[in-house]
Amino acid sequence: MPQHTPPRPICGHCDGFPTVTITTGTRTPDGQRQTITAHCPACHGTGHTTPTRAHTRIGA
Ligand SMILES: [Zn+2]
Repeated sequence: MPQHTPPRPICGHCDGFPTVTITTGTRTPDGQRQTITAHCPACHGTGHTTPTRAHTRIGA
């Protein structure tokens, strides 16, 4: 029986990969790699497009 996932519109800007971690190549004084996390500006890191109607429900 195939799993039925509810249809959620995937963000067309990032194609469902909203968060990208970029390694800068430098290391912090702690010895860890310094990375930059970039979120998709279209969906703000959610990976899905949200209907603008949802905003009207906030604060009700
Ligand atoms: Zn996106």
